[in-house]
Amino acid sequence: MRVAALLMALILGAGPVMARAPVGPLSNEARTAAYLDHIADSPPRLRIFLQAMPKGGDLHNHAGGANFAEDYLRWAAADGLCIATDSYHIVDPPCDAPGRIAAAGLERDYPHYSRAIDAFSTRGFEAGVGDPMVSGYDRFFATFDAFGAAYGRHVGEAMALTRQQAAADHISYVELGSGARAGWLLGLKMADADASDFAALYARIAPLLLEAVASARADYDRYEAEGAAIDGCGTATPRPACGVEIRYLYTAIRTNPPAQVFAQLTFGFALAEADPRFVGVNIAAPEHDPVAVRDYALHMAMIAFLKARHPTVKLSLHAGELTLGLVPSRDLAFHIRDAVEIAGARRIGHGIDITYETDAPSLLARMARDRIAVEINLTSNAVILGVKGRDHPLSLYRAAGVPVVLSTDDEGVSRSDMTNEYLRAVTEQGLRYADLKQIVRDGLHYSFLPGASLWQDRAGGARVAACAIMDAPGCKAWLAGSPKATSQAKLERELEAFEAMPR
Ligand SMILES: [Zn+2]
Repeated sequence: MRVAALLMALILGAGPVMARAPVGPLSNEARTAAYLDHIADSPPRLRIFLQAMPKGGDLHNHAGGANFAEDYLRWAAADGLCIATDSYHIVDPPCDAPGRIAAAGLERDYPHYSRAIDAFSTRGFEAGVGDPMVSGYDRFFATFDAFGAAYGRHVGEAMALTRQQAAADHISYVELGSGARAGWLLGLKMADADASDFAALYARIAPLLLEAVASARADYDRYEAEGAAIDGCGTATPRPACGVEIRYLYTAIRTNPPAQVFAQLTFGFALAEADPRFVGVNIAAPEHDPVAVRDYALHMAMIAFLKARHPTVKLSLHAGELTLGLVPSRDLAFHIRDAVEIAGARRIGHGIDITYETDAPSLLARMARDRIAVEINLTSNAVILGVKGRDHPLSLYRAAGVPVVLSTDDEGVSRSDMTNEYLRAVTEQGLRYADLKQIVRDGLHYSFLPGASLWQDRAGGARVAACAIMDAPGCKAWLAGSPKATSQAKLERELEAFEAMPR
C-alpha cells in the first residue's frame, strides 16, 4: 500500500517527496516578505518600509485622544482659555486669576508650555523620562480632563487632523470611537434615575431619542463639513486625507452613574440605527475605575437588553484592559467572556487580561470559532498597563486562531502612530510580512463597514465568486453593492502596488 501511495504521489507530482525550491523569479509578495526578513532587526529601515505599507483599517481610535497636545494648546489659545498652573489643565477664563495663565503665548514660556504638553500626554513615559511621580494609567486617563475643555469647539478640525495622520500612515479606513453632545446631555438628564428596571428606564428615554438623534446628526454634518473644508476635499487640490474613509462607533462612558450609562447606550443604539455613519456602539473609560469595576456586569446586562431590541447594531467593546495587580484578581476573571457571551460583542478592544479569565482556553476557542476579533494596541498597552513584548497576549490570540487587528487607541495622547504599532509588531512580537498582511486585510474584513466582504471566508483566502477576476465587469457591479468590499478591493490594489515597489 505504502509503495503504491508513494508511486501515486510521484506520478501526480505531489507530496513531500517531490517538494523542491520554486524555480524562476520570486513573486512580488515573496520578494517583499524577504526584504522585511532582511531588515527586521533595523527599526530605522522598518520605519521607512512600514510607513509606506498600506495598512487598511484602524478599528480602535478615539476622537480627541487621537489629537496632539500641541493642537489642544493652539485651540485653547484661540478660544481665550487658560491653564491652571497646579494641574496644567485647560480651564475657563479669566486667566489673570491666581494660579492661572493664558494659553495664548504659552509657547514663549517653555517651562509652563512643556508641563502642559506633559499633562496632555504620556510623553516620555516609555522612554523613562516621563513624570516619575505618576503611573502610566493615571496619567493616560487624566489627559482627557486636562485637554477636554479645548475639544468641543474644534471637533471638525480634530477629525481632519486624525484623517491627515491616517493618510500619512497609509490607513484607508478609520472607525473612530466618538461621543455626541446630544447623547451626553441625554445621559445627564437621567443621571439620578433608577437603573434597576431597564424596561421602565428605556420607556422614559424613548420619547427623547428622536430629537437627540437629530441633533447629533446635525452636529456630525457640521464636523464633517468643517473637516472636509480643512482637508480641501472636493476641491482641485484635496489632501490625501480626503481618501480616508471614516465611520464612527458611538462610545458610552462606563465611569458614569448607571442610569446615565444606560441613557448613553440607549442613545447610541438609536443613533447607529438612524445614521449609517455610526456603524456600532462601544463603551470606554478606565476599566479599573471603581465605578467601572462595580458596574461591569450591570453594563453588560444593559447592552444585552438593548441589543435584543436593536439586533442589527454591532458592538465593539473595551474589555480586559487590565492586568494582574491593577484590580483584585477576581475582576480579571470574566470581563472578556461577558462582553462576548452576554453583551454579544463582535470585537474586543484590548483583551489584555485573557489569560486570567476563567477557563481561558474555552474562551479563546469560542472567540476563534465565532471570529471575535481583538483590537490590539501595543503602545497603549505598554504605557497604561506595562504589558509588552513576550508578556503581551498577541501571540496567544494568534496561536488560538482568534483574529487580531492592530490599532492606535489614542495616538495623540501616547504620541505614537499606526506605523509605530506595526513596527512594534515586528520588533517586539516577531511578526513578519505575511502576518502583517493578514492583519491589514483583517482590519477591513472585521470592520463594521456595511456590505459583504470581498472574501468568501477568511481574508486573503478565496474571493467571492463574482470577483474571482478582479477586473471583470461582474466584479465591478458586485463591488458597487458593498462599501466594505469596495474598500477591500482598493486595499488589494494598494498592496499590489506596494509589493511591486523596487527594494
Ligand atoms: Zn480604547
